[in-house]
Amino acid sequence: MVWLIRGDNGRNILVDAGFRRDMKDFPDAKEFAIVYRTSPDSAIGALGVKAADVTDIILSHPHWDHIDGISLFPNAHIWIQKEDFSYYVGGAWQKGGNSGGYEPRDVRTLVDLNMAHRLTLVEGDNKEVIPGATVFTGSRHTYNSQYVLVATPSKKVILASDNIWVYYSLEHLSPPSEGGTLDTTGYVNAIRRMKTLATSTRYIIPGHDAKIFTLFPKVTDDIVSIE
Ligand SMILES: [Zn+2]
Repeated sequence: MVWLIRGDNGRNILVDAGFRRDMKDFPDAKEFAIVYRTSPDSAIGALGVKAADVTDIILSHPHWDHIDGISLFPNAHIWIQKEDFSYYVGGAWQKGGNSGGYEPRDVRTLVDLNMAHRLTLVEGDNKEVIPGATVFTGSRHTYNSQYVLVATPSKKVILASDNIWVYYSLEHLSPPSEGGTLDTTGYVNAIRRMKTLATSTRYIIPGHDAKIFTLFPKVTDDIVSIE
């Protein structure tokens, strides 16, 4: 899932970037490629936003299904947690490291973006990276994954990404299955905290639950709007 944040500051901000159609070339992704329908850059076209108009991408974490699409947005500035970045390009590939869900081509792309000064390392919790968009950590879906609080004039919305995998976790305060977090207690505490941050539970949005498409008004078959 990819979210586009639009306000009155001229920025077109994505939370995560999805992945590219040719992910089918990657062994881990084959099963997902079969059901792939709309690439993230063409999906936002339905909202009148071209790929080149995307100014920022806040990466919740660098799993392939969230990061691989960053190459589709030639002008976007990337925001990622510093510890997540360090582990992604370093420790994950050391003996004893865990590179599950990390695709080498995405790692190289992120290093290139850093060297091109198109990437900012966010240091820690409760950081307003762009006016109105504040990131929080603690769930540890990856080494230091982050979620985004979007403050609109009327409400506060949390785009949780995989820091809440599906609504079941939100409703039952239950951690994900094995491998879904490095810190089970932290994951559940982060959900509790989200409930204090968002206007209501309705405005806490999990990362992989298709129920979202029945809870919010549709723009197209593949897009819903939270206003
Ligand atoms: Zn993930």
